[in-house]
Amino acid sequence: MTHLLHRAIHAQLPVAVAGKGIELFDADGKAYIDASGGAAVSCLGHGHPDVIKALHEQLDKMAYAHTGFFTSEVAEKLADRLIEDAPAGLDHVYLVSGGSEAVEAALKMARQYFVEKGETQRRHVIARRQSYHGNTLGALATGGNEWRRSQFKPLLIETHHIDPCYAYRFQTEGESDEAYAARAAQQLEDKILELGGDQVIAFVAETVVGATIGAVPPIADYFKRIRAICDKYGVLLILDEVMCGMGRTGTLHACEQDGIAPDLMTIAKGLGGGYQPVGAVLLSGAIFEAFASGSGFFQHGHTYMGHPMAAAAGLAVQEILKRDGLLANVVEMGSHLEARLSERFGNHYHVGDIRGRGLFQGIELVHDRSTKTPFDPALKLNARVKKEAMARGLMVYPMGGTIDGKTGDHVLMAPPFIVNKQNIDTIVERLGDAVDASIASIR
Ligand code: PLP
Repeated sequence: MTHLLHRAIHAQLPVAVAGKGIELFDADGKAYIDASGGAAVSCLGHGHPDVIKALHEQLDKMAYAHTGFFTSEVAEKLADRLIEDAPAGLDHVYLVSGGSEAVEAALKMARQYFVEKGETQRRHVIARRQSYHGNTLGALATGGNEWRRSQFKPLLIETHHIDPCYAYRFQTEGESDEAYAARAAQQLEDKILELGGDQVIAFVAETVVGATIGAVPPIADYFKRIRAICDKYGVLLILDEVMCGMGRTGTLHACEQDGIAPDLMTIAKGLGGGYQPVGAVLLSGAIFEAFASGSGFFQHGHTYMGHPMAAAAGLAVQEILKRDGLLANVVEMGSHLEARLSERFGNHYHVGDIRGRGLFQGIELVHDRSTKTPFDPALKLNARVKKEAMARGLMVYPMGGTIDGKTGDHVLMAPPFIVNKQNIDTIVERLGDAVDASIASIR
């Protein structure tokens, strides 16, 4: 009997009691390799002594001071750290408690920016189908995950969606990468023109799409074209790097590899590595200036924004990332993971695609590899893979609805940045066994 309303009411969940390095342990003493960092959160693994020490020190000094009355040393330091390595033009930080809050704040910043500038007619947000930006109402409305949105539709603000840049499903036979990037990005310009060139506030996209389609990176030049279209119509570019950011792809920000910078960027998960709930919006100097020389404030706020304990976790995690040169390990282990996945699944009849960047990799499961036909969603293959993986002491992040919110299955991997080659070999071996056992169970 539980008094918790769990995510799935009838699920029998093991009780997590401890974590160390890349593993979590349940109450029976069983170990699980955390190959998904939960949901791409635990970038330093579990129980990192230096993060724990920093949290103890902050707690001994001060746990909380409301940001309407005070700033705090630790929040100021975290902002300095984040801006030091921010994409070009981003020079202020708004600290919140997670990814959805970051997306809500970014949407409101974008709207207020145009109010400050006297362009009050701008009201439309464009995002992409098969994306996830969070579960609060504004973020849910922005996301293009039909399954998550459908029952709440009557409560959602109006938003507009274009196709994702998803080469495995949308690039046509014989179409060059360049032609596909141009065609995919053109959808944004078409949508802006349909709504009115001076009516759109922002375009929102995950730089590398995470939970909804499973670690799908953009094709070369896609985001350069998107950036140019946004600039042409004065539309703000909001990149949601809540999942793919803060080192996950091998560079601190995923968009560094696309050669562009957004006007607003949301980060969370890997920012605090799960040691505290923390998220942030990084905003451009132009947006900050519009607020500073206009109304003088951003009309928003939460009780726990800039929480000193959350900031202490973010600061410690980011300092360790830098001190220990972990981005280099993400690049090296990312290539190893990619190579091992290709060896294990490259010729697998039921694996249609292997994709990703750095330690953010996904495989897409298909019924028939030659036609890319998905499995019948009623078989719930993704749930079977999760169960079989857990039985083998492996946490991965499988999801369904990969293609259109209803059909398709994929498995997302996002192991901690501290993994070594041997860890990765074990992860791929267990995943291979879990996938084969899941498919065998539906034959
Ligand atoms: N944005 C992206 C890209 C995400 O992947 C997520 C969570 O998975 C969110 C936003 C929402 O973050 P949170 O669950 O911390 O509210």
